[in-house]
Amino acid sequence: MTSRARAEIVVDLAAIRHNVRRLREIAADAVEPGAAAPMMMTVVKADGYGHGVTEVSRAAREGGADWLGAATLEEALAVREGGDTGPLLCWLTVPGDDWGAAIGRDIDVTAYSLGELAEIEAAARQLATTARVQLKIDTGLTRGGCLPEDWPALLAECRAAEERGHIRVTGIWSHLACGDEPEHPANDSQEQVFREALAAVEQAGLRPEVRHLANSAATVLRPSVRFDLVRCGIASYGLDPAPGVTDDLGLVPAMTVRAPLAMVKSAPAGTSVSYGHTWTADADTRLGLVPVGYAEGLPRVASNTVEVWLNGKRRPERGIICMDQFMIDLGDDEAHEGDVVEIFGTGHDGAPTALDWARAAGTINYEIVTRIGGRLRRVHVDSERDTEGGNA
Ligand SMILES: *Cc1c(COP(=O)(O)O)cnc(C)c1O
Repeated sequence: MTSRARAEIVVDLAAIRHNVRRLREIAADAVEPGAAAPMMMTVVKADGYGHGVTEVSRAAREGGADWLGAATLEEALAVREGGDTGPLLCWLTVPGDDWGAAIGRDIDVTAYSLGELAEIEAAARQLATTARVQLKIDTGLTRGGCLPEDWPALLAECRAAEERGHIRVTGIWSHLACGDEPEHPANDSQEQVFREALAAVEQAGLRPEVRHLANSAATVLRPSVRFDLVRCGIASYGLDPAPGVTDDLGLVPAMTVRAPLAMVKSAPAGTSVSYGHTWTADADTRLGLVPVGYAEGLPRVASNTVEVWLNGKRRPERGIICMDQFMIDLGDDEAHEGDVVEIFGTGHDGAPTALDWARAAGTINYEIVTRIGGRLRRVHVDSERDTEGGNA
């Protein structure tokens, strides 16, 4: 084994377990005496928000995830390929999707429309089985989901399909537009539409197992929408779902991106750096070359704004971030080729986080972690269980 540092994404599975446990505590907080605490769904779409779907799924279950959630049917199948057998929901399908594959692997699928319901029922009939179907109502996000005016017809058809025997409605759910803005009036309005939709479900004679509306932000900020199950994505990875709004939630970012310094060079005052010479040294300094670029998912728009961590300090990025590399300012500090640059990570000691990159790029932490990849190798470690600091 070589000890040579490499450009890599390090994912700490102990952090995932911790975050899922912590979110379960948060969701159980303020539950009325005698009432059940909501169940936890860990959302593992987009390759576990860039953290690795198989490893994240396992860690999330260990942390207490009752459910896993995926966007596409293919993602849900990938969760099963990774060995997971527990409750699993997917919600973003297209006509002609392989419903049979999902039904055969005990995946709850989501129907938004009569057309989807018909495809699901036909696939289940062909397999001589009963599909587990959740219904999504569009309460105001205006993305996927059944419009309230079409809801009664969808419910009636579901009830009839249940009678025919190949459909069972297992859940009713919706998704918030402004869960990270607790004062936004859309939250009240969506909650009300959802409650009305649930009353109609009851009236239609459907008896779903779970009703759910909250994402990470709403899980933390709006107890009234926790219902039977909360769906936590970003917070499970240790990232703040509502920066500037939430108090410290005690979450730990699971992803660290780091690379060895490829070169150190002096830059006399007047030296201009990288494409377009967008930065010029106003005093003598030394610069370090970091071999990671926008092909790895770093946002080029963060050039000349973002900072990274090296030898116990934040270091400003200098010049345009290129496809494969960028430069950082070392000042007078000693630094050597091979020293490890932390591009972002847990935020220990004030080191940069995915949120810092997001702010420098005018985007959200979700986009930073889900886009990171390219030529970086990804390794999974477990800071609670590994004895040698890494298992890769
Ligand atoms: C992505 C997603 C979530 C998770 O959202 P976070 O803000 O990451 O917690 C929950 N529900 C649905 C439908 C989603 O698409």
